[in-house]
Amino acid sequence: MELGIKKHVEDIYKCTRCGYCREMVRERDNTFRICPIHEGTAGFEVYTGKGKMLLMRGVLEGTLEMTPRLAEIFFTCTTCGSCKAHCPVQIDTVGIFEIFRKDLTARELSPAAHTMFGKHTTEKKNPYNEPHDQRTSWIPEDFEFSKPAEIAYFVGCTSSYRQKELAIATFKILKKLGVDFTILGPDEWCCGSPLFRTGQIKQATELAQHNIDKLTELGVKQILFSCAGCYRTFASDYPKIEKLKAKSMTFAKFISKKIKDGSLKLKNLPVTLTYHDACHMTRSVKKPDYKTPRKVLNAIPGVELVEMVSTLEGSMCCGAGGGVKSAFPEVAVSAAQNRVQQAKETGAVCLISTCPFCKRNLSDGNKEANLGMKVMDLTELILERIE
Ligand code: SF4
Ligand code: SF4
Repeated sequence: MELGIKKHVEDIYKCTRCGYCREMVRERDNTFRICPIHEGTAGFEVYTGKGKMLLMRGVLEGTLEMTPRLAEIFFTCTTCGSCKAHCPVQIDTVGIFEIFRKDLTARELSPAAHTMFGKHTTEKKNPYNEPHDQRTSWIPEDFEFSKPAEIAYFVGCTSSYRQKELAIATFKILKKLGVDFTILGPDEWCCGSPLFRTGQIKQATELAQHNIDKLTELGVKQILFSCAGCYRTFASDYPKIEKLKAKSMTFAKFISKKIKDGSLKLKNLPVTLTYHDACHMTRSVKKPDYKTPRKVLNAIPGVELVEMVSTLEGSMCCGAGGGVKSAFPEVAVSAAQNRVQQAKETGAVCLISTCPFCKRNLSDGNKEANLGMKVMDLTELILERIE
C-alpha cells in the first residue's frame, strides 16, 4: 500500500528543523507557547511539529517502522495548526499529519478510541454512541425540523448530546430575533469532523455527502454554526467533496451583523472576561476570523475584554481536538489547564469560547486544576444579555 505522504516528500524535506514549531517566544504576535501537546506532556520533541516531520522522514527512508507507538505519537496531536502557523518556510504540517494519519489508519494503527468512535459515527451518526433519535432531545419547544428555509442552524453532535446549553442558547437567540430558520433534526448527521481529523476519510465523506444533500434539498443559502469544528469541516473539508451552494457562517459573525443592523440589543452588566480563539475558526480555515468574536464582546455594554498572553495568531489550543480528548484524555485536560491558567492570569472572571468542544475541555481543565474560572460560550453570554 503506497504511503499518502510520498506525495509530500518535498514539503517534508523542506523542514529546516529550526524548532520554531516546538518553542518560540515572539511578543510582537503574542506567541509564548506553540504546541499544546508539547506543553501538556513531558515535553519530548517527537510530539511537536518538528518531531513529527523528522519521524515521517524516517518512515520514508525506511529507517523507522510504522508501529503502534509511532501511531500514538501522531494521534497525540490536536491538529490545532499552531506549528503550521509559526513555520517560517510555510509547511502545511497539519495537512501532512492528517495524510499520515490516513496512512496509519489504513494499516489499522489508529488508537482503539478512534476506531470505536468511527464505528459509532457510522452506525449512530454521532461519535458519542448516543441513540440517533435523541439527537434533538435538547430542543426547548415544538419545532418543525427539515422545513425549507434560507437559513439553517447546523447543531453538531457535541451541542446535541453533550453541551446542550449551546444549542438551546443559539435556538433561543434565533427565535428572539424572529429569524426564519431550519434545523435538519433527525436528518442531521455528524459533520464528520472527528473522522476527517483522524484519517477515517471514507466514512467522513459519506456523512458529509448526506448533510450536503439534505441542506441542498431544503434550498438553504446560509448555514449557521455554533461549533467551530463543524464550521471548519463545512468550510474546509466539504468543498473537496462537493461545492455547497449555501455559505457557512459562524454564529459570532451572525450576531455581529445583528448588532450592527440594530436588531440585537444587549443589556449592561459589568464583567471582566477573556476570550479563547477556537483553532477551527481561525488557523484551520482559509479566512481566520480573530476580529468578529472580539467585536461582539466589545459591543456588549459593561464588558471589559482582557487578552491572554497567548492570543490571536499566537493563541494556544484548548487541547481537545484531533481525537486527543477521546484517546488521550489526560493529555487533553493537562493542555486545558495550561490554557485556563493563562485565562486566570488576566484577572478575568469569565473565559469565553465559541466552540462546544473547547468549552467542554476548558471546563474540565478548570475543574481539574481548581482554577475557579467561569467558562461560557459566546452564545450563552448573548442569551444572558439579550434585551
Ligand atoms: S498541530 Fe498543534 S498539537 Fe499538533 S504538532 Fe502542531 S502545534 Fe502540536
Ligand atoms: S517550524 Fe517548520 S521548518 Fe521549523 S522545525 Fe517546524 S516544521 Fe520544520
